[in-house]
Amino acid sequence: MPSESCENLQVIRKTYEKLVFGWELALKKKKYKNEANVATNNTKMDYTQKKYTELMEATGRGDYRLMNNISKGSILRHDVDKSCSKALKMAKLEAGKKVKSTYYFRVPKTFDAEAIDEIYRLGHEIGYHYEALDKAKGDYKKAIELFKKEWALFKRWKAKTICMHGNPLTKWDNRDLWKKYDFKKLGVQAEAYLSLDFNKINYFTDTGRKWNDEKSSAKDKTGSKLAKINNTDELISKIRKKEVKRFCILTHPERWNDDIHLWVKELVWQKAKNVGKRMIK
Ligand SMILES: [Zn+2]
Repeated sequence: MPSESCENLQVIRKTYEKLVFGWELALKKKKYKNEANVATNNTKMDYTQKKYTELMEATGRGDYRLMNNISKGSILRHDVDKSCSKALKMAKLEAGKKVKSTYYFRVPKTFDAEAIDEIYRLGHEIGYHYEALDKAKGDYKKAIELFKKEWALFKRWKAKTICMHGNPLTKWDNRDLWKKYDFKKLGVQAEAYLSLDFNKINYFTDTGRKWNDEKSSAKDKTGSKLAKINNTDELISKIRKKEVKRFCILTHPERWNDDIHLWVKELVWQKAKNVGKRMIK
């Protein structure tokens, strides 16, 4: 065969392969898009942005910031453990429903000043999600110095409150820092666990991607018994029927996904983590 025809054949083959590849890719994209739509539209699917929107519709518009509701009133609290962009998405969703809440950020893990600025401008309260004792490996002196340094970063958003981060993989409880020191002397007005009377407020936490799961809430302890809640619909129904008058709802924004891939990823990751938490208990 003359070399020219050989080259022509190669070109034809490559073009054909490109076409088939593009066609397959388009099919895949369409398939994923359909799956994502199913996730978004399926009201049975829990821990989606859609479900969170329904929850916001049940709580109703209002100021649920921690600082303003410590002694009376309900609280919406977010621990931003992993994703600042997810927090921003949730903050926008809340602002759209005229809801104000509190967001706690880790340093440096979720400390994205630009995103925090935007969340603050939407009207939400900004706070510090501290883990100083973990970072200092139980050295109280080092921990308090680190705390002061990181807490100073939050002045920019007029932060008044803090909230401990509970890492299930470490042996320390970050709240223990306040057995030795007084946070009020450092300009902190309240700590999300220590300053609330949990006998007077209903606490709901999505820790472990299950509402009020005692087993996976290794360190998310309040001292009072958690109500049994099977899913978000049940919580929504309780709020709508006014069975729950005063509440503190803790959510982790990265758990609430409409994208089917992230939703599945988060589900698998949480299942694995829950098994891990049970093993170290
Ligand atoms: Zn946390």
